[in-house]
Amino acid sequence: MSERRLEGTGVTPLSGVGTVIWYDQEVDLPEPPAPDEVDPDAEHDRFETALDAAREELQAERDRTAEEVGEDEAAIFDAHLQFLDDPQITGAVEDAIDEGLPAEHAVREGFEGAIEQMEAAGGRMAERADDLRDIRDRLLRIVTDSERLDLSELPEGTVLLAEMLTPSDTAQLDPERVAGFATAKGGRTSHAAIFARSIGIPAVVGVGEQLLEIEADAEIVVDGEAGEVVVDPDEATRERAAESRDVEIRTERVATADGEPVEVAANIGTAAELEGAVAQGADAVGLFRTEFLFLDRATPPDEDEQLETYVEALDAFPEGRVVVRTLDIGGDKPIPYVDAEEEENPFLGTRGIRRSLGPDAELFRTQLRALLRAGAEGDGELAVMFPMVATVKEVDRSLAVIEDVRAELDEDGLAYEMPELGVMVETPAAVFMGEQLAERLDFFSIGTNDLTQYVMAASRQNEAVAHLHNPRDPAVLRAIDRAVDAAHAGDAWIGMCGEMAGDPELTELLVGLGLDELSMSAVTIPDVKANVVEIDTAEAREFAEQALASETKAQVNERLEE
Ligand code: PEP
Ligand code: MG
Repeated sequence: MSERRLEGTGVTPLSGVGTVIWYDQEVDLPEPPAPDEVDPDAEHDRFETALDAAREELQAERDRTAEEVGEDEAAIFDAHLQFLDDPQITGAVEDAIDEGLPAEHAVREGFEGAIEQMEAAGGRMAERADDLRDIRDRLLRIVTDSERLDLSELPEGTVLLAEMLTPSDTAQLDPERVAGFATAKGGRTSHAAIFARSIGIPAVVGVGEQLLEIEADAEIVVDGEAGEVVVDPDEATRERAAESRDVEIRTERVATADGEPVEVAANIGTAAELEGAVAQGADAVGLFRTEFLFLDRATPPDEDEQLETYVEALDAFPEGRVVVRTLDIGGDKPIPYVDAEEEENPFLGTRGIRRSLGPDAELFRTQLRALLRAGAEGDGELAVMFPMVATVKEVDRSLAVIEDVRAELDEDGLAYEMPELGVMVETPAAVFMGEQLAERLDFFSIGTNDLTQYVMAASRQNEAVAHLHNPRDPAVLRAIDRAVDAAHAGDAWIGMCGEMAGDPELTELLVGLGLDELSMSAVTIPDVKANVVEIDTAEAREFAEQALASETKAQVNERLEE
């Protein structure tokens, strides 16, 4: 039989080969009986008992995840526990029981409204709908007394396939046994994807309906690098996938063949990812997306909790720098407990620094207090950057808040240290105002995920315009070039922390464009470091000039292939 390839989104640049086991979370319910055949009191009791059992299971899974993966990942279970006590959700289930539905049907109906609401909000909020489905399915399984596949005990060499995996499912997977997983739904930033990256499991998500046609016991390859699932792989494909990644881990800093240093750093979202970043040879943290500390919980982390996390990051890189980005919420990353109006076009709305200087001013001050204090306490060098900056005024106002916070810490008699300060270059406005921003700041970091969507006017989440959302487009390259020139003219250093930085095919181009630092998911660091040491800077510059002179993305790609 010849092999068949299905495309999805690669989550980790790792491949695995194994035998399919399907994970079917859906519990099939028969038609409900007539309302007068249902005893509401008995059904309320069944629902209460299921809630208690679900709490117990979640608490146990929480404790295990905290021990085996990390406290930050375990926080997701706290959010699930809170959902179980959310009167809006439990109230909807109870209402459905009062209307004559048995507990299981009431659970299905009661959760539906909340799930639909979150899905309608789009982006990462929609991904939180996955959390609600997870809880609903757990309750359904308990109420109907259904068996569940034990994900922590899968046979060695399993490739797990599912329509969707939830955070609690993924946290149970043992990377020693599971060769990979693939899901029909889900995106790169879903929790399942984030877990897969932090525990190093080959994974492809968002494969679509075709995935559902793969039969149990089939042999498949999950190629997280190419973003492909290969059914009935031939011998060569199988061997390639089974080979462990043969890349040298360089823990030392690297320079081009002619001696230009290039810092290769890691992007992290939680402290649990620090260990992996160090293990892959990261010189530094180039982007700490702090919003992950604020997601999936009912209240924000307070100053001391944040302080502890930032110090942990600084201590993990005693000789390096840790660039912490202040909260970037809004857009596709709403947080339930912040006061946010629903916006027609959230990516062009109140997100990032706009929120920190507006409705989230208090959260911003607390975060800055924790950061400045961490700078004095942790071993590494702290740098702080602001997301989604579009104007010089936003930077001036942010710097004024920092001055205020400093005065406050002085008054409180608390030790602090001023970090390096910088901005994400993610808007065309920041590119055009680069010279003025660089005069005020120590560094820039280019966020190509957003910069591409704003330069090309193509959403980073819309499949229909994915061909336009490509940082290889000469328009994006010219924006990067201009930002690099502006930074260097103002004696600021400039890095890149968008996904583009971790694409090993682009290392030479990015070095040629003059970037001082590249920051990426830890797993791609060894490949990028291996590329840096081969580069001749003069050749890379010439290559970058050609790419900048290209008229189309196709021409850029041709030049890359040459
Ligand atoms: C970016 O926009 O490139 C970036 C790194 O930020 P995020 O992906 O968190 O928006
Ligand atoms: Mg961004």
